[in-house]
Amino acid sequence: MLDQYPGTKMIAGGQSLAPMMNMRMAHIEQLIDLDLLSELSGIKAASSQVVIGAMTRHHAVANSAILQQQCPLLAAAAKTIGHYVIRQRGTIGGSLCHADPAAQMPLIALTLNAQFHVKSLGQERTIAAADFFQGAMTTALQENEFLYAISYPCFSHQTAWAFELFNRRHGDYAIVSVALAVEYDASHLIRNIRIGLNGVADFAKDYSADCEAFLHQPYSEQWVAELTQHLMSKFAPFDEERISASYRLDLSKSLITSAFQRAHRRFLKEEA
Ligand SMILES: Cc1cc2nc3c(=O)[nH]c(=O)nc-3n(C[C@H](O)[C@H](O)[C@H](O)COP(=O)(O)OP(=O)(O)OC[C@H]3O[C@@H](n4cnc5c(N)ncnc54)[C@H](O)[C@@H]3O)c2cc1C
Repeated sequence: MLDQYPGTKMIAGGQSLAPMMNMRMAHIEQLIDLDLLSELSGIKAASSQVVIGAMTRHHAVANSAILQQQCPLLAAAAKTIGHYVIRQRGTIGGSLCHADPAAQMPLIALTLNAQFHVKSLGQERTIAAADFFQGAMTTALQENEFLYAISYPCFSHQTAWAFELFNRRHGDYAIVSVALAVEYDASHLIRNIRIGLNGVADFAKDYSADCEAFLHQPYSEQWVAELTQHLMSKFAPFDEERISASYRLDLSKSLITSAFQRAHRRFLKEEA
């Protein structure tokens, strides 16, 4: 159908598309409802990856025992999406294809370098998160393609994580959010850092490569302060009428600090 009728759109949970149609921001000739395609739902652990069907609801991602063990950062972030009803209907694939710059799922996909599995008639391809997102509300999906699954790397036993966000009202999109995974080595030195932020650039951004000079060192409050300062020099927050760029910077500073502190407490088993 995607090939036959150009301009056709998929509808997944309808939590972003339906409001856009209601407000006449989207005019769509044909809709394909993915709701009954049960083969597009589910969460499977496969060797070093977790593979999630595009139609898997946020609620299922948030409460998955597999994800809580293998990729807890993703489950924790899904728990913070909107309200209960939104999470019951909204899907991980819908959120990723919608590509809202403040949404949790694109941030986690970029931070963890998720792989996007895409199909069109007789063809399949896999796209890395960094190539899938091309800016706010824009992805690399062609008109005749749809997303059928996403894979995420499993966390090692030495990896601790945190997801921190600030919003003014429970359930609103966050002003700034931080996704963090820190891997320690056997001597408790920091082996690897994956960190991404929403709200300090025009789209979710992965800042992991900017942490390289801070690897192979022990955790300390001083280390966190210096790394946070260094990361903040990379941000390009924007001014809005009611949210200034400097407010976003202040938020990012306290959220990054809390994220490292929480991840370290988790590594020491002082926090679940
Ligand atoms: C009140 C409210 C609060 C919200 N708060 C948050 C929040 O705090 N954080 C957050 O991240 N999100 C939030 N959302 C959005 C919510 O997470 C949606 O679930 C999500 O953005 C879209 O998922 P969906 O399954 O509803 O997709 P739909 O609305 O059905 O589709 C969205 C877009 O993706 C396309 N699409 C869907 N599935 C596929 C597929 N498999 N292949 C190709 N294209 C596809 C559709 O054609 C459409 O363009 C909120 C929504 C509402 C209404």
